[in-house]
Amino acid sequence: MPIKSEDELKELKSNFNTNWTEFKSKKFEELQNLIKQSLSKNDSDKALFLITKWALSFWSSDIHFDMQEKNVKLRFRIDWLLAEVMMFSFWEYKLLLERLKYKSELKLNITDLPQDWKYRIVDGWKNIDVRISSLPVKSWENVVCRLLDSTQAIIDFVSLGFMWTSKRQIEKSLSKKNGMIIVTWPTGSWKTTTLYSMLNCLNTADKKIITLEDPVEYEVPGIVQSEVNEKRWYTYTSWLKTLLRQDPDVIMIWEMRDLESANIAAQSAMTWHLVFSTLHTNGATETIERLLNMWLPWYILSSSIDIIIAQRLVRKICPKCNEKYEANETEREIIKWIMKDIWVESVTKNKKNEWFTLCKWTWCEECGHTGYKWRIWIFEVLYFSDKIRALIREWSNPSEILKEARKNDFMLMREDWVLKALKWITTLEEVFNVVE
Ligand SMILES: [Zn+2]
Repeated sequence: MPIKSEDELKELKSNFNTNWTEFKSKKFEELQNLIKQSLSKNDSDKALFLITKWALSFWSSDIHFDMQEKNVKLRFRIDWLLAEVMMFSFWEYKLLLERLKYKSELKLNITDLPQDWKYRIVDGWKNIDVRISSLPVKSWENVVCRLLDSTQAIIDFVSLGFMWTSKRQIEKSLSKKNGMIIVTWPTGSWKTTTLYSMLNCLNTADKKIITLEDPVEYEVPGIVQSEVNEKRWYTYTSWLKTLLRQDPDVIMIWEMRDLESANIAAQSAMTWHLVFSTLHTNGATETIERLLNMWLPWYILSSSIDIIIAQRLVRKICPKCNEKYEANETEREIIKWIMKDIWVESVTKNKKNEWFTLCKWTWCEECGHTGYKWRIWIFEVLYFSDKIRALIREWSNPSEILKEARKNDFMLMREDWVLKALKWITTLEEVFNVVE
């Protein structure tokens, strides 16, 4: 039965099996043995190094040490999921915790206050910054380590996965001398490589690029990077003003936190600076509403912004155990409903929009039996044409703005996702977890 409304889509979505599969690996046992061996010899330094190195080998973003009643659970966050690696006795955890604090020159006796600290691991030519957060629980501390591989290569702009019209529009914005490029994603989701890869396109000797970040995630040669430090006498806005006195051509401001910082960003975008910034919103039109709700005047908004890129991360299907199959009836109807506003023939096998080939997984050791490995962005790119600027000046509602944007090949995030599922990059199930 064809879908006739968003409610019907929601109904079908709820019947879809979107349960996570637990990440499992035979290698965890090997790691456990190595760690236990080092700890039995009191070599907590080696144990920590092993944990970090192995976490990275599983492309993890965080290491969790979680206090249980009788022991401490070690987990890695791999893509979205927490994977349980092993258990430590309290004695083993004490050794590790003391070593972590010693490495970061922290006072060992403070256990009842939340603390943040970091240290650097050098592995061959690689520097890995580990940011640690500790939270006092019961009589001890729960610890989470975020791994920042600051030397990892910046992803080439071309391979980020933009559809060609969006890519062309972004390239147009990047070639300008002034204007604002806003990148958005919802709170809690991961920070982005998109900004860095765009900045890197502009990173030439004749341009001064300066950034205000929190924290600096990648170190990019040729770019002046500063890190927000509100613990001292600086506020976010005063820091921002100092940045502008450094005579930059391109500025990246980590976040527009309030009206004042949004105003400074917008004003400098109108005075011969190319400005990059971020906001926590779900989509492109919501970003406009948010900025207006911050009381950023509409005349500043409409003339300063050049492009809004909304994005969300989804997991990529495992490169090793994937298998193609013909979509079943439910999947076909979902695809047809979501793609109804754009040219769906381009992605189907026949003119009647009947056949779609999707990709599924069969589970393997490579993906830890989850069916997925690594992640990719899905996008929604809103380019500010003259007509869209005029619509914003006239206080038009989001649906009118969208209607106009459609004329410039605007695609909703969920359309980009279906295209990526049809290109066998991800699956329908995966994005049901991520996109409304
Ligand atoms: Zn696999």
